[in-house]
Amino acid sequence: MKKILLPTSIVGSMPKPAWLAPPEKLWSPWKLEGEQLLEGKQDALRITLQEQQLAGVDIISDGEQTRQHFVTTFIEHLNGVDFENRKTVKIRDRYDARVPVVVGEVARQKAVFVEDAKFLRSQTDKRIKWALPGPLTMVDTLYDDHYKSREKLAWEFAKVLNEEARELQDAGVDIIQFDEPAFNVFFDEVNDFGMAALERAIEGLTCETAVHICYGYGIKANNDWKKTLGSEWRQYEEIFPKIQKSKIDVVSLECHNSKVPLNLIELVRGKKVMVGAIDVASNAIETPEEVADTLRKTLEFVNIENLYPSTNCGMAPLSREVTRGKLSALSAGAEIIRREFGV
Ligand SMILES: [Zn+2]
Repeated sequence: MKKILLPTSIVGSMPKPAWLAPPEKLWSPWKLEGEQLLEGKQDALRITLQEQQLAGVDIISDGEQTRQHFVTTFIEHLNGVDFENRKTVKIRDRYDARVPVVVGEVARQKAVFVEDAKFLRSQTDKRIKWALPGPLTMVDTLYDDHYKSREKLAWEFAKVLNEEARELQDAGVDIIQFDEPAFNVFFDEVNDFGMAALERAIEGLTCETAVHICYGYGIKANNDWKKTLGSEWRQYEEIFPKIQKSKIDVVSLECHNSKVPLNLIELVRGKKVMVGAIDVASNAIETPEEVADTLRKTLEFVNIENLYPSTNCGMAPLSREVTRGKLSALSAGAEIIRREFGV
């Protein structure tokens, strides 16, 4: 396969079609059931693939069309978790959510996303990327009534994530990404066990591995939180040195319209960097030149062959029309930089 310079990709979610789930919100309930739901999810995967290909995206994702939520859908498939009697927790110390409860040993009886990944693999020759939740973010998105230890639970999740990741790799996934927004909040836990758990989750994988660390979806709780972070967001400074030392290949981070000092990217020099050049917290569609400008600025800290233009986070809360515009801008912006480098 010819190596593309500046391969573009999305971080994770895309809006779902309105016939599958009510759009522009998180945890949106399915509108179909049984066989129709299975068929509907595959149709949505076809659409999300086509939208990415039409927009010129190089590395294809599933757009999370087969899951309600990037964390809870994975947890839903595990033994030891009660989804009926939910409890309220504060996610990332920020907003309340009704979440499942760990009531016994967590175990993965069968594959969660492997059939979906095989389906996506069968539909395109392009590289595909699949996102899984990271262990620390999983721990932070439920109530634990069994292990009573975030560390122990993270370790158990790391083991089941590793089982899933190995099967996704065998199904032909080229990049497996772990979403760890909790890394930006719980620095002590990242240090004590979060990073080790992530390394356990990628153990033995030969495909590329990525970690996505961001400031969240463009929802009110996240936007309010960002207002409290001051004029410079230096959270990455706490965690990047640990990622630098890890076996993770790719770091996905938020850049465009954020207050992250771009020189922090220097801390992961040598890693591939998925640079967020699309703001997911705004309906304003970036111009190709704005995207190119963000990419150009990061080139001071990341070698061009390691730069993967991307979005800041998932786009589930946006409209499909806005998403289309943003994806096209991403591709056009990357093309401007390719032209500047004569490739
Ligand atoms: Zn994110």
